[in-house]
Amino acid sequence: MVAGAGPGGMTAGLVASLEGLDVLICEKSQQVGGTGSTSAGTLWIPGNSAGEAAGFADSAEDARSYLKALVGDDGADPRRDIFLREGPGIIDDLTRRTALDFVSCGHHPDYRNNLPGAGSSGRAIIPAPFDGRLLGKDFARVRSPIDDYFLLGGMMVGKVDIERLLGRYQSMENFVHAARLVLRYLADRLRHARGTRLVMGNALVAQLYYSLKKNHVPVLFGAAFKELVVEAGRVTGAIVTTDSGSVRIGARKGVVLATGGFAHNPRFRTIFMPDPPPVHSMAVSENVGDGIEAAERAGARLDAGRARRGGLWSPVSLVRRKDGSTGLYPHILLDRAKPGLIAVNGAGRRFVNEGVSYHDFVEAMYRSNETAPTIPAWLICDAAFVRKYGLGVIHPGTRNVRKFEKSGYVIRGDRIEGLARKLNIDAGTLAQTIARHNRFAAKGVDEDFGKGETELNRFNGDPENRPNPCLAPIDSPPFIAVAVWPAEIACSAGLATNGDAQALDAGDRPVDGLYACGNDMASIMAGHYPGPGTTLGPALVFGYRAARHAARGGCETIRT
Ligand SMILES: Cc1cc2nc3c(=O)[nH]c(=O)nc-3n(C[C@H](O)[C@H](O)[C@H](O)COP(=O)(O)OP(=O)(O)OC[C@H]3O[C@@H](n4cnc5c(N)ncnc54)[C@H](O)[C@@H]3O)c2cc1C
Repeated sequence: MVAGAGPGGMTAGLVASLEGLDVLICEKSQQVGGTGSTSAGTLWIPGNSAGEAAGFADSAEDARSYLKALVGDDGADPRRDIFLREGPGIIDDLTRRTALDFVSCGHHPDYRNNLPGAGSSGRAIIPAPFDGRLLGKDFARVRSPIDDYFLLGGMMVGKVDIERLLGRYQSMENFVHAARLVLRYLADRLRHARGTRLVMGNALVAQLYYSLKKNHVPVLFGAAFKELVVEAGRVTGAIVTTDSGSVRIGARKGVVLATGGFAHNPRFRTIFMPDPPPVHSMAVSENVGDGIEAAERAGARLDAGRARRGGLWSPVSLVRRKDGSTGLYPHILLDRAKPGLIAVNGAGRRFVNEGVSYHDFVEAMYRSNETAPTIPAWLICDAAFVRKYGLGVIHPGTRNVRKFEKSGYVIRGDRIEGLARKLNIDAGTLAQTIARHNRFAAKGVDEDFGKGETELNRFNGDPENRPNPCLAPIDSPPFIAVAVWPAEIACSAGLATNGDAQALDAGDRPVDGLYACGNDMASIMAGHYPGPGTTLGPALVFGYRAARHAARGGCETIRT
């Protein structure tokens, strides 16, 4: 039995079925996908064969050096090594035997690419676009991405699509690509509630669900895992609540917990997250730590990771939706590194190289918050920047931000002093900060934080902008600010597991019959974020290993 139909749980269920087991996946909500459906869908798999086929040299050895430099020694934890050794083969096996289909991300630098062993191309893979129509009426069972990832109210676009759409008048190839996207979408909308050309995390979860259906693996919707059944020291089943009451489900080979981690569990947020715990979370609301709490009651141990930060972060801005709810927009890659934007704290000072990874940006927010209020921090730019690159949910090309000002999304000032007053920041300090940044922009060298110096910065910057692709003056009023808050895109603390994803007890012995993967399992990166796909790579690899271990009589083997 598998609890949770996100990427981790669906992989475990799929592989268990391929290995000949009878599988039941219990999903609390009415749809598959969980947070994975809202994700970019990138997997970090050093040495993967899609990268190799595309001509990118990589090796587990290089990745091992990189992780050693970033995370440190893994001591007695064998999982990182297993992940590096087995990851590429597992992805190959999955693509051979299921509808999963990945392509190389190509050039996509690791997030600390100045460390030894860091990669710049080929380490990350993304799911190929998936045609949701293949699912028939069950397309409605795939959870939607966040609203802000849609264009025209329901069309998904990936990074390449965005580049083609923005450059649609620059080449015939771009124009044809853009026209095809829009025509397909318009045709889709005659029959479907949203576009059926799925990309990123939505393509990943749809490919997994499609594979499950082809293998006749049942997903029981509206079935919330509550408790483990433990008999003679072994997990033999689970209690699940459904509309018609509680059901006891027997599990001969084991229970895999994949309920997405503890994101919305206030107790665990206080224990595992930094102070003050982030108020916002990007996880789906169902992820309240059901799997982890039940495993704890059954004697499993939690692992906070050495970084003791409990989460993997992104700065998010708050979007007021039409229905009155508040949406979260993750500032992952489209705006922070671009030239002409700075981030300041409540003292009006910069505190970070704005082009670092989303995780490192939030880590810097917490560090800065120790000396000056930095929660929220402010991303500040001018009207020319917004027109060219967009800002958060504001699309490039936007000339008038008054609508966004009125909704409270941004704060606007015709002069820096006026903006500072509205932000409750000392006007003189903010003016000095911007003037200093503008001097750096003229020289092309950020003497304070080195924006534009790393490969990752430049990758997300604007190559057309010279001399530094990440620096341009902020001097074209009105001036615009958006508040960003820390939020986790994934939990990093979770259940301690071994290399077969078996949950471990306080003495590091496997809890017989109990497995965890995805965010229910403590991250193998111990609170660090090496590169794109840091959580989904391990989620699939250890979902696979859990299922294989259970199927091959692992539980019985361990008992004898
Ligand atoms: C904007 C964004 C972008 C991201 N991009 C990436 C990326 O590109 N690469 C990457 O590696 N990571 C990315 N992530 C993180 C990634 O999405 C998560 O780490 C991943 O989805 C975790 O997978 P999971 O299966 O553990 O949990 P989830 O995907 O959250 O799935 C958990 C499932 O369990 C269900 N559930 C919860 N409780 C119960 C219960 N009691 N019983 C039954 N079912 C239950 C939920 O409804 C859900 O369907 C991103 C996240 C966000 C928000």
